[in-house]
Amino acid sequence: MNYLDLKVPPVRDERLKPCCAYGGTLCDLVEGQKRGCLTSNGRAFAQATGCQLSLAMGMVGSIPEAIAIFHGPVGCGSTNLGFAGLVKEFQLQRGNTDSIGQVWFSTNLSESDVVNGSEDKLAAVIKEADRRFRPQAIFIAKTCVPAIIGDDIDLVVDKVKDQVSAKLIPLHCEGFRSRFPATAYDIVYHGILRNLMEDEENLPEPVLENAAADIAYEERKKRTVNLLNVGSMGRVDELELIRLLGALELEANILPCYTPPGRFVKAKDAALSVSICSTHDDYFVEHLKELYGVPFVLNTIPIGTDNTRRWLLEIADFFNIREKAERFIAIEEAEVFKALEPYRKLFKGKRVFVSTGEIRAGAQAEMLERDLGMEVVGIRSHHYDQFGEYVFEHFKGRNDVTINVAASQPYEQVNLLARLKPDLFLGHVGSNVWAGKQGIPVLPIFGPVQSYMGYKGVFEVAYRLKRLVRNPAFFTTLGKTTTLPYKKSWYDKDPYAYIKQTETSEAA
Ligand code: SF4
Repeated sequence: MNYLDLKVPPVRDERLKPCCAYGGTLCDLVEGQKRGCLTSNGRAFAQATGCQLSLAMGMVGSIPEAIAIFHGPVGCGSTNLGFAGLVKEFQLQRGNTDSIGQVWFSTNLSESDVVNGSEDKLAAVIKEADRRFRPQAIFIAKTCVPAIIGDDIDLVVDKVKDQVSAKLIPLHCEGFRSRFPATAYDIVYHGILRNLMEDEENLPEPVLENAAADIAYEERKKRTVNLLNVGSMGRVDELELIRLLGALELEANILPCYTPPGRFVKAKDAALSVSICSTHDDYFVEHLKELYGVPFVLNTIPIGTDNTRRWLLEIADFFNIREKAERFIAIEEAEVFKALEPYRKLFKGKRVFVSTGEIRAGAQAEMLERDLGMEVVGIRSHHYDQFGEYVFEHFKGRNDVTINVAASQPYEQVNLLARLKPDLFLGHVGSNVWAGKQGIPVLPIFGPVQSYMGYKGVFEVAYRLKRLVRNPAFFTTLGKTTTLPYKKSWYDKDPYAYIKQTETSEAA
């Protein structure tokens, strides 16, 4: 894979041919995806969903010493308003004591800009952002309006790049380009790979998290892995993964979130790239391998004991230290299984529904059954692509678990939950409120201040679920006192009534 000659990376609709709308069993989903039948699935009615701009800017916004410019109407930046203080806090947790938090500008396009073009306005904002903050990099995000009127942001960047000190990184993330918001990750990585991977003199050595001070960098990098984090991951999870890698005597070079632009170039030196989410990282690790010969581990996310074991063993196999890893895993598993014993009794027979991105959904659902003894009755995934088969392996052949592929679409979710009546719901921020209003106790499936990954994550999730099971009063009261906007006639309908599946996929 090498798309770096292109100014604009391909959208996932073409590159991975994922599915964005599906309701049924896992078998049909996996088979349909393999045959390529599900790409054209859609909905006759759809509620608003996320746009790739917001995901791209969530990722870019975490990068210290960088600034983002939203080139478009001011409203396109509205989703970033809530991040400002959070990013500062998360950067502080990672030792960035000079953090000023997230800084972004908007070109604030007016009607007259739409008629007359807005390239000059963008050039002026780039120069102003550079003058005021002197950042290492400025990410310039193109939104729908300049894409429609034909603004050429690459041309603007070419014109002003010699007048500013920051590296300028154009991002073509207008929302209408893709039905899959996760395309945003490819767009940001595309910008990083095209603009931030050149070696520069006097670059500081990366901060390796398990580094022994007396070992030279040249020697250390043979034991260094690029640990690819995601914006929804807290420092607590990073620390747990650093601990697991440290047990294998490996160093972690963490990127892309919360990493300054000047450090990306060091990703080329690592022995291995280790992803925790293929939805997030496949574009980056494939290019790192193709261009710089850095191999990668991509298959799973270390959530639950099974997936943590698979993750560690894949890494260990690369370094030829499987026995060492197995010894470590045996000790950790024995400890966590002992600690989970009382929880498994409490959770036995509890029916649970999981809703989030593909990789986390599969792994978290598996953890709830295998580690905690619950019964998974339904899984909603934001999309489904070739990487799903591996993480959904545990549910292969299971017709008792309904699978819904949907980003947002709360109307489908409320109907499903009304039928399935799960005891617990683990979901993404966009889904949780709806389940909560139906009176179902909710545990957020990610949270940047809480622990979810590795062995620590297994226990912490169990502990938080215990509190929820013992005292669901908040959600019970919320359910009794809230009325959702849907009529009875909708609940009487098939929850997948508006999904348009191709005939081939239905027969698959
Ligand atoms: S879909 Fe287009 S107009 Fe809407 S927020 Fe995203 S980039 Fe802006």
